[in-house]
Amino acid sequence: MNIILLGPPGAGKGTQARILVEQRDMVQLSTGDMLRAARSSGTPMGNRVAEVMDRGELVTDEIVIGLIRERLESGEATGGYIFDGFPRTLAQADALGALLAEQGQALDAVIEMQVDDDELVARITARSTCANCGEVYNDISRPIPEDGKCTECGGTEFTRRADDNEDSLRTRLMAYYKQTSPLIGYYHAKGDLVTVAGLGEIDEVRARIAEALD
Ligand code: AMP
Repeated sequence: MNIILLGPPGAGKGTQARILVEQRDMVQLSTGDMLRAARSSGTPMGNRVAEVMDRGELVTDEIVIGLIRERLESGEATGGYIFDGFPRTLAQADALGALLAEQGQALDAVIEMQVDDDELVARITARSTCANCGEVYNDISRPIPEDGKCTECGGTEFTRRADDNEDSLRTRLMAYYKQTSPLIGYYHAKGDLVTVAGLGEIDEVRARIAEALD
């Protein structure tokens, strides 16, 4: 099963993708994670995109489609792909359809996660991530444990994303509404779209997604 998690920054796509990976033997393909890995390893592409990411703008279609193409063509064994943060433009959506078809695969569902803007801002400005395994914490709803150790890997270093500040967030939200939200109509027209409320406890949202998929 191949699915897309679609939603604005802070909707919980990464959190739910990690749950699906654990429970369904799927592989998470997050272009945001791939781009952050490229910038922290100092590759020429990583250096080129760093400023764009920090401003909260979208990286070019060519770069992100290239990243996804590389992974899909590597032919890794999986119970399916979860596309997290990709596609973000209509050109990316068309490219994904073509890439999957080349591999003899199809898209099974697009889950749109709906969360209102005030909640997105509150979530993102309180967010931190385990530097070792990427587990996501939130000062309000899921604080870092008192012993200072990540519940998943025991890591003790936590970072905040450079683009998780109010200025870039405003740009990221605008990019979502202008460039990514047209995908809602695109996938609705194809009959692939399922809309799920992204508000509430992580486990409540997990259950809504499971219901939509099963
Ligand atoms: P994310 O982790 O998905 O919030 O992505 C962080 C940043 O990486 C975005 O604000 C963009 O600058 C860039 N990015 C991630 N995925 C894409 C994509 N599919 N298309 C263009 N830019 C992307």
